[in-house]
Amino acid sequence: MFALAGKNVLVTGATKGIGYGIAAVFATAGANVAIAARSQADLDAAVSRLDALGSGRIVAVTVDVADPQSCRDMAAATAAAFGGIDVLCANAGIFPEAPLDTMTPDDLATVLDVNVKGTVYSVQACLEQLAASRAGRVILTSSITGPVTGFPGWSHYGASKAAQLGFMRTAAIELAPRGITVNAVLPGNILTEGLRDMGEDYLAGMARSIPAGTLGTPEDIGHLAAFLATDEARYITGQSIVVDGGQILPESLDALAG
Ligand code: NAP
Repeated sequence: MFALAGKNVLVTGATKGIGYGIAAVFATAGANVAIAARSQADLDAAVSRLDALGSGRIVAVTVDVADPQSCRDMAAATAAAFGGIDVLCANAGIFPEAPLDTMTPDDLATVLDVNVKGTVYSVQACLEQLAASRAGRVILTSSITGPVTGFPGWSHYGASKAAQLGFMRTAAIELAPRGITVNAVLPGNILTEGLRDMGEDYLAGMARSIPAGTLGTPEDIGHLAAFLATDEARYITGQSIVVDGGQILPESLDALAG
């Protein structure tokens, strides 16, 4: 059960953080994994680390997910390397701070271009290969921020992460006849390179708000993505699943006092 060996997996934003964690779980399970991001140096370093984990092949593909042609090239390169694409983890995303008072049109456009359009372009680019797989899987990395919660400074980001879910629900209906499922993982606070940049005070404050008492690991997200990619998950589609150590549960800080 839950076999992933031999599956051809493409993970965007996989040189660091959650994307790397997803890629590591698939690599450990014996899948062939294509990792995609912009920085060639980071891709090369990530390939070396991932190569040591499993028996599948690991390849690097450069992409800017905000560019539709770049996404088409990414899908073509992955298909050329592996012979097909069974699983797309559309994970690449950015979360720059921009309070509403000072947010510029460029701030807004950049976040929507990468997080929303980048998701759509990545899925579109892989459609033919996912359909050919007959067990195609799309796993989006959304967030609790936007779909469930809010945080000052990240209104544009929250909008982008909620938009991914709106996209997912109709994509799931459109693609079901081709045997493709589309689901989303909603991480809480996961200790990644990107989140580390928010500073120690932010990380400590977040840890205090999580019933589990700690931030999550990238692999915590990878394990759910891996399950959603299995043949056994074929009847799950259009769903968003929170992975957050219980962070969205407390009604107030008092709920965490005990
Ligand atoms: P991260 O550590 O900053 O890593 C981001 C990855 O995405 C890198 O590999 C980066 O590589 C790539 N990337 C960024 N812009 C890209 C673009 N335009 N095209 C292709 N690749 C791009 O981020 P993270 O914390 O792992 O977050 C990953 C995803 O999880 C995002 O969608 C984020 O919204 C979501 N998320 C994170 C958390 C958290 O707690 N960390 C919580 C909820 C949701 P290059 O810069 O080389 O392109």
